[in-house]
Amino acid sequence: MDEVNTEASGPGTATVGEVVALIEDAYPPRLAESWDACGLVCGDPADPVSRVLVALDCTDAVADAAIDAGADFLLVHHPPLLRGVTGVPVTHPKGRIIHRLIREGVALYAAHTSADAARPGVNDRLAELLGVTPGAPLTPVPDGVDPLTATGIGRVGDLDTPMTLREFADRVADRLPTTVWGVRAAGDPDRMIRRVAVASGSGDSFLGTVAGLDVDCFVTSDLRHHPVDEHLRGGGCVVVDTAHWASEFPWCAQAAEMLATADPRLSTGVIDLRTDPWTVHRPGAVPSPSTDKDR
Ligand SMILES: [Zn+2]
Repeated sequence: MDEVNTEASGPGTATVGEVVALIEDAYPPRLAESWDACGLVCGDPADPVSRVLVALDCTDAVADAAIDAGADFLLVHHPPLLRGVTGVPVTHPKGRIIHRLIREGVALYAAHTSADAARPGVNDRLAELLGVTPGAPLTPVPDGVDPLTATGIGRVGDLDTPMTLREFADRVADRLPTTVWGVRAAGDPDRMIRRVAVASGSGDSFLGTVAGLDVDCFVTSDLRHHPVDEHLRGGGCVVVDTAHWASEFPWCAQAAEMLATADPRLSTGVIDLRTDPWTVHRPGAVPSPSTDKDR
């Protein structure tokens, strides 16, 4: 993963097509959700690659950093063109980035839900960071497949040391990359946590699934008032909500290491930019009514 300067072409150079094959071996497109857009966004499979950089989002700053660092290939998690577009003119914020990468000869690949579902993938990295053994996925496991090794989104597993929600929220905040948004939790802060479900990124569609499992806590991102309130009042487990970026960014290092190991010709690294959009977070100072828990 060291960023070693290497020639952009020559006998020790891979091709875009070869890097795509390595990525798709680790994060098979067949594991992606049907609505997703994993794959090569721009780039010529025949072009040479010696330096691959990994990031969560392809923002302008990320594209600039990739170009400045001499990358030939940028691997991201979030597909920049997930929703339909009819063109990529330079006057469009996304077109601007695609044009810049093409002009500079940087291929762009998005491994989204393919990397969420794969083993090891985004969810394994999140679980391991939090001290949770990455077990069965939250998505259905086909008959005859061992749930403990099955691919799919989310992971359920035991926490290495039982602790209260309050303590576990501290651990999540300490171990995930720092964001302005931070970490918040819902439910009894003194609830003991032994078994945890995680879903990297936006996981509120799994609240119903988690409510039916023997877990004490669910860690995910982008949670909203009504789904969480109804989940808790229905007897569901306590919930930890992280910044979306923070739950997924740790995967970038895993992917960079995977590529460096798979092909020693490649120099790989992570673009260390926080692409979480939130920049200000205030708890507020106005005296507030008591909560259900205070009564
Ligand atoms: Zn995401």
